Amino acid sequence: MNNVDFILRIKYNKNMNDDMNDEQKDMLNDLAALVAVPSVVSEPAPGAPFGAENRRALDTFLARAAALGLRTGNDDGYAGWAEYGEGELVVGVLAHLDVVPAGENWTSPPFELTVKDGCICGRGVSDDKGPLVACLYALARLVREKRALHGRVRLIAGCNEEEGSACIKHYVSCCELPRVSFTPDSDFPVTASEKGILHAEILLPRCEDTAARLISLFGGVRPNVVPDFCRALVATSSAADSGYAALEEKGVSAHGSTPEKGVNAITKLLPKLSALLPSDDGLKRAAELLCGKDAPARLGLGKSDVTGKTTVNVGLCSMKDGRISLTLDLRLPAAYPPPAAVKALRSALPGADVKVLHVASPLVHDENGALVRTLTEVYRRETGDLDAAPLHIGGGTYAKELPNCAAFGAVFPGVETHMHEADERYPLTDFMRLTDIYYDAIVSLDEAFGKTNGK
Ligand SMILES: [Zn+2]
Repeated sequence: MNNVDFILRIKYNKNMNDDMNDEQKDMLNDLAALVAVPSVVSEPAPGAPFGAENRRALDTFLARAAALGLRTGNDDGYAGWAEYGEGELVVGVLAHLDVVPAGENWTSPPFELTVKDGCICGRGVSDDKGPLVACLYALARLVREKRALHGRVRLIAGCNEEEGSACIKHYVSCCELPRVSFTPDSDFPVTASEKGILHAEILLPRCEDTAARLISLFGGVRPNVVPDFCRALVATSSAADSGYAALEEKGVSAHGSTPEKGVNAITKLLPKLSALLPSDDGLKRAAELLCGKDAPARLGLGKSDVTGKTTVNVGLCSMKDGRISLTLDLRLPAAYPPPAAVKALRSALPGADVKVLHVASPLVHDENGALVRTLTEVYRRETGDLDAAPLHIGGGTYAKELPNCAAFGAVFPGVETHMHEADERYPLTDFMRLTDIYYDAIVSLDEAFGKTNGK
């Protein structure tokens, strides 16, 4: 679509328009064109393994990359890339075009780029279309300057990060792998390590009294979200409450990798449920072990290393064939392998069935290696934040999908972007700084790995 169309549709005031240079106006136009495509993963079609809208987002990206003078390639609609330079060394940049569904309660149209209160708003502005456009313009700057590099830089755009990263798994199976990469799909400064992830369903031992009297139990939406509600209905013999006791707890939702930032409604409710069902020993034990801040230690999972300490989120609960089901999201220090955690759960909760639903390996980079060191230096140089230090996180990022890849931005410390929520946003001034940072990162990695072979 024509640039003028988009510049008219972006709701920013004239003064701001006058303050921006041509590159910045083009960046906003291109981001507007991508935000306008609702690239939520949907039914596959020929050439569109993640649905027609994801293919449309990929085609939009590739067309702009070609117009900016970059070589482009398309991995059958799974992912695409834009490339600059010559030579064997490839510095990779891994970003994604797919987005999570809009959901409710937006105060501006989710699939329209709006500028409001100093922020760009719209689904994908921070995760990950905005950072992807900033990286695209870092490559475009290399083209404009005809910058000499030791090798090539390849910006890879995947179409399925939000639902399992099948895009990049496909790319890895059949396309050229960069020697070193970063992904602008997390936080600044740079992520040196990510914990291992284990999702497990615990089916508590069957208790006849519970099977007969616990009429319903439900709480939570996903294993990796701290549940903000939990309800249970229990039959009682008391005439005072007309034969039923209804329990309800509210909590505060947060990401499952940081349970301490939320309030878990399920673990608030379990001790009260256990008090109503006193003959259920399995429930009593689960309530004792799982509820409270020191749950990891009580479960025998209290390990820690340089990547952090074990965290436990009880994300879901329900009744299954008369038994109580609890789904846990555990984040494990890198040195603590998921099978050892499963063994610890089984011995802490005798008689319960522990079923592994999902496992992701940890990722650990050497903080003093060329990748993390170079990106940390770039961040310090570009922002003036000389104390910036590498991060150790519990969340899993796109970086796990490529060898020798670290997450680098694009959210600055302390900035709230409402990622995956209503009114996703990203500060406009931060957006305008990103291209400088990513340009520096590409040139510096090319230099570090081209000259010294990354040693
Ligand atoms: Zn993302």
